[in-house]
Amino acid sequence: MSPKPFSHAPGDSPAPRLPSSRPAGAVKICIVGGGFGGLYCALALHQRLRQSPRPISITLVEPRDRFHFTPLLYELLTQELAPWEIAPAYRDLLQHTNLDLRQDWAEHIDLAQQTVTLRHGEPLAYDYLVMALGSQMRPPATPGSQAHTLPFVTLQDAERLERRLADLEARSTVRVVVAGAGPSGVELACKLSDRLGPRGQITVVDRRGEILRSYPQRLQRAAARALAKRGVEVYLDAAIEAVDAGGLTFGYAGQPRYCSADLILWTVGTVPRSWPGSAPLQPTPFGQCPVRPTLQLLDHPNVFVLGDMAAMPAPGRNSQRDPSRNRAPTTAQAAYQAGPAVAYNLLALIANRPLRPFVYNHLGDMLTLGQGEAVVCGFGLCITGRLGGVSRRWAYWLRLPTHAHRWRVLKHWLGFKG
Ligand SMILES: Cc1cc2nc3c(=O)[nH]c(=O)nc-3n(C[C@H](O)[C@H](O)[C@H](O)COP(=O)(O)OP(=O)(O)OC[C@H]3O[C@@H](n4cnc5c(N)ncnc54)[C@H](O)[C@@H]3O)c2cc1C
Repeated sequence: MSPKPFSHAPGDSPAPRLPSSRPAGAVKICIVGGGFGGLYCALALHQRLRQSPRPISITLVEPRDRFHFTPLLYELLTQELAPWEIAPAYRDLLQHTNLDLRQDWAEHIDLAQQTVTLRHGEPLAYDYLVMALGSQMRPPATPGSQAHTLPFVTLQDAERLERRLADLEARSTVRVVVAGAGPSGVELACKLSDRLGPRGQITVVDRRGEILRSYPQRLQRAAARALAKRGVEVYLDAAIEAVDAGGLTFGYAGQPRYCSADLILWTVGTVPRSWPGSAPLQPTPFGQCPVRPTLQLLDHPNVFVLGDMAAMPAPGRNSQRDPSRNRAPTTAQAAYQAGPAVAYNLLALIANRPLRPFVYNHLGDMLTLGQGEAVVCGFGLCITGRLGGVSRRWAYWLRLPTHAHRWRVLKHWLGFKG
């Protein structure tokens, strides 16, 4: 396959603001972070504005110029999808709304003064605040890992990986080591194996004793089969000790082992982003912000926190493998559900109506396992292979943001021009 460069790169420099029409005396809602939690909350609020007894103005603060539909990021590597499909520009997504988009970083929140300090722009005053900053890569602690590995979290990471692959593909053999056998590691290993074909030698290394630790066993088995079918070597119970320019050292079966690599991908987990400025509350041991069942901040009912950065309660969550978990997972699925739930509660709060506790509904698990293939498990069923690939693609299509964007993507998939 001849790699094509991605057609655009996301920047994080400030962009011109979208024109906003702010009615005088409007209730000011500020949403910080435009990912699955923040953007879907903003869109749900916009849809329900007519339910509000008072005029409302909504400001979205987001440093990126493009929304990232992360579950489909892997498809860029096999050119199954293009960047515009999975990373649409916020300007396009919000063009028919009155949302005021600030492409900027929130650097400090003053809960007493109700202001958000931005890196570039003027401070924003709010009546109601929504915080949805997501996660970031766990800071690499293994010697050499920062200098000699690539992450895979953002569109920019995917573009950097694409450029590296384009350089390596001239070789007869390309040795790739993926550190981490969680969902990202497994999905990357399968996609890269399909992209590189016979010249690819893919190895996955993980310190734990199983792949996809928190996933159902049927899904683990399907993933193990997909890896084996592609000849991916998997080392479990293997702690990576050091990384250098030529490969990595890990302990395996009591012995140090060196694995040479042309490319090392680091997928050993993410951590929730911390509160900008001084945190209002002690974070949980996992680094999340504690919230009420309504996703309001304790002691600050006009502030909502959701998505990966919030310890969103999910009592009675079905988890046979880890009964101690009573939090919603740090997934797009959970943040996507929490966005509209926060929008509902915000409008209820403004209208002086009762709020609802957030109820996380686990709809199942999906992973891509190579080009056109996936495993989809939910409601007692597990679909794999090409059928799984098609099911996953359509399940995600339904969740792309805005009707207009879904429609553009659908027309493209069905081969309509214009
Ligand atoms: C490669 C990859 C694949 C994934 N695949 C899946 C999957 O298949 N299924 C699944 O359920 N989940 C998946 N996830 C996890 C999923 O992306 C997250 O759980 C989800 O995005 C969390 O939503 P969020 O709104 O909390 O954060 P995000 O969607 O990450 O959004 C946070 C936003 O806040 C912005 N931000 C950060 N700091 C600031 C600041 N100081 N000021 C203003 N804005 C800020 C960021 O730019 C970002 O846009 C994947 C993640 C990755 C990286």
